[in-house]
Amino acid sequence: MEHIGIIGGGIAGLSAAIRLAAAGKPVTVFEQNQDVGGKMHQIQSGGYRWDTGPSVITMRHVFESLFAAAGRKIDDYLTLLPVEPLTRYFYPDGTVLDASRDLARMAEQIARIGGERDVEGYLAYLAYAARIHRVTGGKFIYNDPPTFGQLARTPIRDIPAVDPLRTMSGAINSFVKSPKLRQLLGRFATYVGASPYLAPATLNVIAHVELTGGVWYPQGGVYQIAAAFKRLALELGVELRTETRVESIRVKDGVVQGVMLASGEFVALDAVIANTDVASVYETLLPHLPAAEKTRRARVDPSCSGFILLLGVENVHERLAHHNIFFSDDYRREFDDIFVRELPPDDPTIYVAITSKTDPDHAPSGCENWFVLVNAPALSVNGRGASAAWWESHAAAYADRVLERLAAHGVDVRGKIQHQQIITPHDLERLTGARRGALYGASSNDRLSALRRPHNRASGIKRLYFAGGTTHPGGGVPMVTLSGAVAARYVLQDLGGI
Ligand SMILES: Cc1cc2nc3c(=O)[nH]c(=O)nc-3n(C[C@H](O)[C@H](O)[C@H](O)COP(=O)(O)OP(=O)(O)OC[C@H]3O[C@@H](n4cnc5c(N)ncnc54)[C@H](O)[C@@H]3O)c2cc1C
Repeated sequence: MEHIGIIGGGIAGLSAAIRLAAAGKPVTVFEQNQDVGGKMHQIQSGGYRWDTGPSVITMRHVFESLFAAAGRKIDDYLTLLPVEPLTRYFYPDGTVLDASRDLARMAEQIARIGGERDVEGYLAYLAYAARIHRVTGGKFIYNDPPTFGQLARTPIRDIPAVDPLRTMSGAINSFVKSPKLRQLLGRFATYVGASPYLAPATLNVIAHVELTGGVWYPQGGVYQIAAAFKRLALELGVELRTETRVESIRVKDGVVQGVMLASGEFVALDAVIANTDVASVYETLLPHLPAAEKTRRARVDPSCSGFILLLGVENVHERLAHHNIFFSDDYRREFDDIFVRELPPDDPTIYVAITSKTDPDHAPSGCENWFVLVNAPALSVNGRGASAAWWESHAAAYADRVLERLAAHGVDVRGKIQHQQIITPHDLERLTGARRGALYGASSNDRLSALRRPHNRASGIKRLYFAGGTTHPGGGVPMVTLSGAVAARYVLQDLGGI
């Protein structure tokens, strides 16, 4: 029976392992860290617990399908609680808006900040985003990477719905007038690490996924998703080798033979799925490739990165919800800072997730566990922006700046911090292997990014596949879960399993 190896026990790697094991294939996952999860990670200290990676979980049905594919019910592994409000938004002038799936609640708040016409515009925008989901979901999200032939067969009446020529913000502006609502809807670009002023309008599909489909919180913390995937994989017989780094993929006559581990052990395999950055695979795991070939294939523009503060904070802040956003004054300038100047914004939009609102045991009594995230540029390599060295000397001052901005929003926790840990883009690169600290893999700022993404089947190397944020269908927990399914499907097709 063919033996399949998976390099990396991130969410995509585990998803692929589950699909393959459910199809009866022997699978080994090689994970360099002590445990699985990759960017989905948790830290505990001094009575506090934090998720250090993803915090907003959408597309519940993607996780349900994975468990169903293995003949299991998700509820036996994970308790996914609906989050309401989806997010509490704080604007610089003191306005507060609770984004909700409840249309009446949303309409009442939108009427207050933007007037009746914006309520109409918002409802039309939701219908528009739902249409993008219907038309593009099957092509760009839920199935194998689209071919030009498939795209060419898109019914003519559906083509305008894809809306690839406008930017996200251009489309949003055509529906609503309120700058506050425009900022709220534009923010969904950041769910794939992009800018609303550059990303194609097609990405307004993300708003549909959250505002109509909802946000889910796994009771116990987001890391419970990785724990549940791991439990299912082990039940299905997947061999999990943690603290085992793959040094290289051995290829002979253009066909994968197996992997060489850092320990010097060679493991013969019939197929390999790399759950690591595609560019890193070409740069570091395929020594047989000529240097020029490595450089050509590793040319993948990164999504943005993030600057994180893990805070243990005294007091319970009644004004705050589970997910909170404190908006900057000048959203366009913020994205110019990130993507043009490649510097962290001086006036950042600040995201604060507090899981102790839902799981009180995540913080000592009377305290809260704050996960504070601001969007930051991917590590700069042009000699001008925020490079790894830049963060070494600026991280502490930037943390103070973020706390100062929170104080300006009326939430001053300075002097009430029991625990503080800073995670810079450079730390993210070091800790998670994310190239240049990119949170979501490849950039989505380009109109053709969905088509340019490296394919899940490596070209020119047989039996090598990719799963994760830098390949189809893209970054984010549900998307990489789907990516694992695509890679597993290709393996089964090529090995004659389906
Ligand atoms: C701070 C942060 C916030 C985020 N917020 C959200 C959010 O709110 N919602 C959302 O949906 N997504 C979010 N994301 C994105 C999401 O976390 C990722 O898209 C997703 O977890 C990536 O999973 P993956 O399996 O593709 O890769 P990874 O998680 O990067 O896993 C790759 C694995 O491969 C292992 N590995 C690498 N090289 C080797 C080797 N040579 N040998 C063995 N093992 C190796 C690594 O150790 C790692 O475990 C966030 C990410 C970060 C970092």
